[in-house]
Amino acid sequence: MKRAKVNQNINLNDYNDIWVIGEQREGKIHPVTIELIGEAKKLAGEINKKVVVVVAGYEINEEVNKLLYYGVDKVIYLSNPLLKNFSTDGYSISISNLILERKPEIVLVGATSIGRDLGPRIAAKVGTGLVADCTMLSIDPEDKKLLQTRPAFGGNLMATIICPINRPQMATVRPGVMKKATHIDRPTGVVEVVAPAITEADIVAKVVKIMKSSKKTVDLTDAKIIVSGGRGVKGPEGFELIKALAEKLGGEVGASRACIDSGWIDSMHQIGQTGTTVRPEVYFACGISGAIQHLAGMSDSKYIVAINSDPAAPIFNVCDLGIVGDLKEVIPAMIEEIEKN
Ligand code: FAD
Repeated sequence: MKRAKVNQNINLNDYNDIWVIGEQREGKIHPVTIELIGEAKKLAGEINKKVVVVVAGYEINEEVNKLLYYGVDKVIYLSNPLLKNFSTDGYSISISNLILERKPEIVLVGATSIGRDLGPRIAAKVGTGLVADCTMLSIDPEDKKLLQTRPAFGGNLMATIICPINRPQMATVRPGVMKKATHIDRPTGVVEVVAPAITEADIVAKVVKIMKSSKKTVDLTDAKIIVSGGRGVKGPEGFELIKALAEKLGGEVGASRACIDSGWIDSMHQIGQTGTTVRPEVYFACGISGAIQHLAGMSDSKYIVAINSDPAAPIFNVCDLGIVGDLKEVIPAMIEEIEKN
């Protein structure tokens, strides 16, 4: 394994292209990959670079080809039986070697459980820095460096970080924040298959078995409708109303952190700065005051409906439709109306 020193003596002109490290699980491309492609294309337009997706796996040619339909210039498919499932060593060695050889200018990784493991290891192996969990990326209009913005100090301020001398500029990006790339009918990009020379001996930590959680998972990032409850639901039983409305509308259940901290509902429902970022077609905020940390995760929703008994609640400043009232009366009335239709 080649390993670069942290203080690289590099020529910045040698570095090109924006890479997205694509993620696959059990042979299916993870949605964060499409979000990263969308973001990479936006950045590429500003600095006139090509967008390349790198995906590691085995026997996933069809899924790999689908990526071309998001308008990327190239997909590099790292194909090897040892890369069928994610392994920290197999993936980080294969991708790092490719980075050292091809020299991308920017590398984006999803801040998923896999990306959070992979990103820092790649950065260490290629001798560059990494800004973790970015929620905004842009290009400095003057020196064309990547501006990487992320919540800092427990989410109390947003920090914009640059990678001044080392390359590539690397970031993990929070899932659900960036807009997905649009699907195109006639791709012009190409797939290049590379067979990384890794062996069993390279993979120290091996995945022995994948066990799926029996718990029903919540798909907040892709939900079209989300009904969220806040402290105003007054307890775990209050979430029954929230669930009933979500079910009637075919939506998912969200929650403010106050409810998670109180143990009223599982943390996988949390929306906000330290939870999931969502942008559904309709977002119902029920008994949620509208704290800045909650708004950070849902204010991009297309249509926001707020139900709150306090007419001065800040959530009314961001909603499209505000209902002042007790959610215990308003929600059953809504359900009754829906049932009539
Ligand atoms: P409250 O602020 O207590 O609001 C409850 C609302 O319910 C009030 O507006 C009240 O008028 C209304 N209400 C009461 N009774 C009724 C009723 N019967 N009918 C209708 N309305 C009623 N929060 C998040 O949500 N997500 C995050 O990711 C997040 N991250 C954070 C990160 C940091 C670093 C910090 C410091 C805080 C974070 N928070 C987050 C917490 C955040 O600051 C707020 O404390 C939290 O969002 C408040 O939740 P809430 O709106 O449910 O509760």
